[in-house]
Amino acid sequence: MRQNAPALDRCRLLAAVLVIAVHTGPLSSFTETGNFLLTRVLARLAVPFFFMVSGHFLARDGWRSLGRFCRHTLLLYLAAVLLYLPLNLYNGGFPWKSLIFDGAFYHLWYLPAVLLGAVLARQLAKLGLRLALPLSFGLYLVGLGGDSWYGLAVEAGLGPVYDGLFTVFAYTRNGLFFAPLFLLLGAAGRQFSRRVSLVGFVIALVAMVAEALLLRRFASPRHDSMYLFLPAVMLFAFSLLLSCNRGRDRAVGRVAMLVYLLHPWCIVLIRGGARAVGLWSILVENSLGFFLSVTALSLGLSAAIYALRPRRQRPDARAWRELDLNALRHNADVLQSALAPGCRLMAVVKADAYGHGAVRVARTLQRHGVRAFAVACLSEGIALRKAGIWGTILILGYTAPADAALLRRWRLTQTVADLPHGQALAETGLSLRVHLALDTGMHRLGLPAEDYGALEAVYALPHLKICGIFTHLYDCEALTAEATGHTLRQLTLFQDAVAWLRAQGYDPGRTHIQASYGIWNLPPQPCAYARPGIALYGVASQEGPVQRQLDLRPVLSLRARVVSIRTVSAGTHAGYGAAFTAQRDTVLATVSMGYGDGLPRNLPERGGQALVRGQKVPMVGRLCMDQLLLDVTDLDQVRAGDVVTFIGRDGPGEIRAMDVAAQCGILTNELLTRLSPRLGSR
Ligand SMILES: *Cc1c(COP(=O)(O)O)cnc(C)c1O
Repeated sequence: MRQNAPALDRCRLLAAVLVIAVHTGPLSSFTETGNFLLTRVLARLAVPFFFMVSGHFLARDGWRSLGRFCRHTLLLYLAAVLLYLPLNLYNGGFPWKSLIFDGAFYHLWYLPAVLLGAVLARQLAKLGLRLALPLSFGLYLVGLGGDSWYGLAVEAGLGPVYDGLFTVFAYTRNGLFFAPLFLLLGAAGRQFSRRVSLVGFVIALVAMVAEALLLRRFASPRHDSMYLFLPAVMLFAFSLLLSCNRGRDRAVGRVAMLVYLLHPWCIVLIRGGARAVGLWSILVENSLGFFLSVTALSLGLSAAIYALRPRRQRPDARAWRELDLNALRHNADVLQSALAPGCRLMAVVKADAYGHGAVRVARTLQRHGVRAFAVACLSEGIALRKAGIWGTILILGYTAPADAALLRRWRLTQTVADLPHGQALAETGLSLRVHLALDTGMHRLGLPAEDYGALEAVYALPHLKICGIFTHLYDCEALTAEATGHTLRQLTLFQDAVAWLRAQGYDPGRTHIQASYGIWNLPPQPCAYARPGIALYGVASQEGPVQRQLDLRPVLSLRARVVSIRTVSAGTHAGYGAAFTAQRDTVLATVSMGYGDGLPRNLPERGGQALVRGQKVPMVGRLCMDQLLLDVTDLDQVRAGDVVTFIGRDGPGEIRAMDVAAQCGILTNELLTRLSPRLGSR
């Protein structure tokens, strides 16, 4: 299993370390050819990779963030120019001429190159990638002649042309000839199958190494940033990475950029420091020691600067949900240990993880080892992929065949809702990963479990990769004899169908049946997955006995603040419709929470309460969209700013989501999934 599938940004950190290698030559004390291959060939993948990631994310939101990207990069460049000013002055003056194309310090060429390149790539992309890619490749070929193919270009009589170019800049590895192609390749984000990517990468890399060695031996290169085979190497490498993960990790991306910007200073500092403390031979003379010490200092410094960065002040939430991520991890462990051996959790995070926030929940579970997730629809699946969730993501609901390309692009697994759906998906001609739903009695989605003809027909369809089969239990909450009968019949139908498939020589793939109540009320089932939703969040859909007691803890608390206090005398009305009349002199606390945040509007009249300073107090009057009133007469000291808890614990008091739901006559699931995106998250 891919335990550490890297987000694109994480590879940026690796790329930054490769750039340090270019500038320190880790193997130069040991093997000259080895060092050449590492720093002049392999490490040359690093900067094109930076370009590709930028191009990829810029194109992903339709180049809308290009303006912000350029402003940001320009500021960064100005800061870097200032940072390296002392070294420039020490080296004998400021290199005005190199400001735009070559960078004001040896590594700083990257920033003006990505700026100019991004603007150019955007203009080219307007022509369509079909035209933009060959055009940018043409520019790259021109650049190649001024770089590693320079010797050949001179022999071909192009010497004077390049000499003309080199009066403007010192290298063709710049924003004009080098950056646009890689930015556009990243923007295209071509994804081949894993095998094609891997084979293509290896072949292209071998060709590039051969090219580099031949050029070095026979053709007097002028520089070694550009090779004819480099774009092909990058195309396949990037495709391979995309198939692992398309996610962003901005923190790591920023640290990588800092490492890139700061490492030349670290080189200077290590040299100075090593001499001062008498470790010159280990830290500088030994090339590996030099590389490692510069890398360690660069990483440490960059991480420290990132940790100390000024944070933007965000508005304090007026109302928020608070997640206990330890409880979430604990519940995942408890549920996992309640499953049969070999059966793994498929965490159901549909409807924004039952109102908890799908990205945060899925990320926490992924870090905790969960490798399969289920969502209700395509957009939920895409959102998770964008957030860097890389395991299996199964869409439990219907996806229109017209959207099949998105299933493939985001590597989502689709449920086959019935035979016509399967046929329509197959007709798209796209190779899609699917799980078959079996209708064992719920009559909602799935192929009828007894209709083996239909099953056979689905297996006969081209293009579909059937990787699993499942069913959903419809009467598993109740423990009556009738309900148990329903469930047993469902289990039998499912097992028979799976056994029949096996007997016919089909591989049913991953099987799964149990949702939360399946885990609570059935013995462990011999399946590949179980799909708990509500139980993962530590609550039940409603009060009632279950067969197996599991020690689950609620994950979510819902809180807001007292914003205003006032005292009204007996007989006074308060709120819309004069729904409340004070029976005594009453202290009212206005709280910043309402039905616009997801609280059911009938909660006050059903006896709704909240916790203030650990004590329960009643809601009064009508619930407004953004506010509500509490009667806090019996509390000693309530102040504006006090935290109010609607779900969760406060000191000795606790209000359970299940009880609030029951008061309002709805399921806990409904209460939680209605929570509004307006709520803050903590
Ligand atoms: C929602 C859903 C689940 C999760 O149900 P819980 O009762 O919340 O555990 C599992 N499977 C399917 C098909 C679902 O629709």
